[in-house]
Amino acid sequence: MSIIAKKIKITGLVQGVGFRPFIYKHALKYSLHGWVENRNDGVFIVIEGPDENINQFLYTLRDSAPLASSISSIHTEDSEPENFSSFFIKKSESVSQDVTEISPDIAVCDDCLHDIKTQKNRIDYPFTNCTNCGPRFTIIKDLPYDRQKTTMEPFKMCDKCEKEYTNIMDRRFHAQPVACSDCGPEYQLILKDRKIDNFSQIINITRQLIDDGKIVSIKGLGGFFMACDALNDEAVKNMRIAKDREMKPFAVMVPDIEAAKRYAFLNESEEIALKSWRRPIVLLKTKLNLAPGVCSGFDRTGIMLPYMPVHYMLFENLKTDAIVLTSGNVSDEPIIISNEEAEEKLLPLSDALLTYNRDIYNRADDSVEININGTERLIRRSRGYTPNPVELQINVEGIFAAGAELVNCFCIGKKNQAILSQHIGDIKNYKTYEFYTESIDRFKKLFRLNTDLIVHDLHPEYFSTKYALETGIESVAVQHHHAHIASCMAEHGLDEKVIGIAMDGTGLGTDNKIWGGEFFVNDLNDFERFSHFDYIPLPGGDKVTEEPWRTAVSYLYKIFGNQFREFDLAFLKSIPENKLEIIITAIDKNINCPESSSAGRLFDAVSAITNICPVSNFHAEAPMRLEAAIAENITEKYDIGIDKTISFDNTFRGIVADLQNGTAVSEISAKFHNTVIYCIFAVAERIRAQKNINKVVLSGGSFQNAYVLGKVEILLEQNGFEVFSHKKTPANDAGIALGQLAIAAKRRQLNNK
Ligand code: ZN
Ligand code: FE
Repeated sequence: MSIIAKKIKITGLVQGVGFRPFIYKHALKYSLHGWVENRNDGVFIVIEGPDENINQFLYTLRDSAPLASSISSIHTEDSEPENFSSFFIKKSESVSQDVTEISPDIAVCDDCLHDIKTQKNRIDYPFTNCTNCGPRFTIIKDLPYDRQKTTMEPFKMCDKCEKEYTNIMDRRFHAQPVACSDCGPEYQLILKDRKIDNFSQIINITRQLIDDGKIVSIKGLGGFFMACDALNDEAVKNMRIAKDREMKPFAVMVPDIEAAKRYAFLNESEEIALKSWRRPIVLLKTKLNLAPGVCSGFDRTGIMLPYMPVHYMLFENLKTDAIVLTSGNVSDEPIIISNEEAEEKLLPLSDALLTYNRDIYNRADDSVEININGTERLIRRSRGYTPNPVELQINVEGIFAAGAELVNCFCIGKKNQAILSQHIGDIKNYKTYEFYTESIDRFKKLFRLNTDLIVHDLHPEYFSTKYALETGIESVAVQHHHAHIASCMAEHGLDEKVIGIAMDGTGLGTDNKIWGGEFFVNDLNDFERFSHFDYIPLPGGDKVTEEPWRTAVSYLYKIFGNQFREFDLAFLKSIPENKLEIIITAIDKNINCPESSSAGRLFDAVSAITNICPVSNFHAEAPMRLEAAIAENITEKYDIGIDKTISFDNTFRGIVADLQNGTAVSEISAKFHNTVIYCIFAVAERIRAQKNINKVVLSGGSFQNAYVLGKVEILLEQNGFEVFSHKKTPANDAGIALGQLAIAAKRRQLNNK
């Protein structure tokens, strides 16, 4: 048996996830000597021993790496044996501008939950964590990932924790946030008249408050949340008032899968998603036994399982097995992370504030996903996912993508990895814009980004565009829907001509009109607009998103002229005559009536005409309610006109006729959705026939519609198309930055040739 030596470099998500102890244990197991070191750009191993053992060691690396780790590459090279007498862990050093990946936050593991019951200094200790679980991204300030570069820095480890932290055989070896009841962070419960520091009292009172129908604001991993009993309608109503009567369905936390099944229907892959260490909110079809105010008329609500020890401890004592857990913020501002702000803004809205004395550095909302055709689709990619990179086939180093405006995420490029920011939000809001610029600075520092190219949306008024242009760095503008399609292509590693179909709300087109129902033939570099939905004037411009009835009137007026005012339609009766007059005059004289081919507005119009949602209380409420109304097992559809562009005139004629002959709106909704699905398929067929392209890429916010995406995918696949849709990145504007990044990288690559 010959003694050999190897140098190994491992990149990927390999820090802060128990990787070095894993290496150490396996080095011992195979009697190998040498060392392992964490560097900015990965884990380095020098190892020597019998060649047979080294081969087995290398095999184990891939085969049984820790749960939350993810290896992107293992590079090995031969070296000279140095006759080490042991295997040891080297102190980490900052060595280069390259960075390794940073772990997202990980839900508390079963071993730690067990320790909370059994380990003397961790009995009921709510900050128990280990290398396999606990906070990561939300507490990290800089790399390499070490305690003094996290918000755990003020907490000096006690001797017991130190022993675990330095004992390589311990589950807490180099677990940076390691803590126990003797030395770690502590909770405090702030009531209107007093503060309580004793933890068992804290838990008892919090339980009492929730079971009594009160609202408690609770500090989570990435921000504050507001909680109340999800079975108590009075409590939920009070929560709606506290949250300014917001109409969106609330997310609900339940203690375990059994409880989830009591309130929602879930299939196998939804169950896996719920239990995943990332612990996303999963949008599930509910059984309607939560308090009615939770779902506010929708058939789906977001369900999640506990992810912090305190959640488990609360449920142990609670009578209710479902609590509303909604983000703690005011109006459109970002979720609150600072204790002071929570006390100032959330405490007055709640009966108590459950907080703790470790800072949240990086804000991260709960992530949200929906399962369509048995696959998870991220809608909001934040806690538990950020900052996991998306691996690309193209070099994106040095590129910063500013994103869109509404559900903004930005994206930075490192080598062939795209690192999407956490969910930022609507950057028209000033506080959210501050969060945007602050997070950009932090990402640049954390990931050592030297920006030499900036990419932004074509829309000159987006705050992200203005931000990009103000930097003075070389910049490139990208059309919104080209970016949508490119984001989905990037996720799937596509770099070729495809049929790109964007079904979306709003995005500026190259003709200065508002696009959104788009059929492209495109690659990463450029696009040809093959066809699109017919333009329709949007009377009042941006106002139409809050008042979908305006778009409905616009469609009716275009198709029927003034005759539509005689129609016996419920939604028309709620519009004052003079208002209708103003709208029609505005259309006639083209006053503040931008033209749009948006799919989102088409859904809006149908939602308004059917009187399902003539006025919208939150973003995309009208299409969401229209989808929720769909009757099952309807296969009929309405007529459409497919020519150079696509006309829905006959669709509206059919809908009006159905409304007048008393057809149920649930049936009309189904027929309308079937029409859109058929339209997407029929146009894809035309493009395939003309261009001989078989790959279809679907993107844009309207593809969050489970009925549309679910059926479109199946229909296209049954007809031999290769279909690509979003899974790990959002189809909505949160994915735009990824597409921008890919397009900018492709253009740079072509320019350099
Ligand atoms: Zn653990
Ligand atoms: Fe969009």
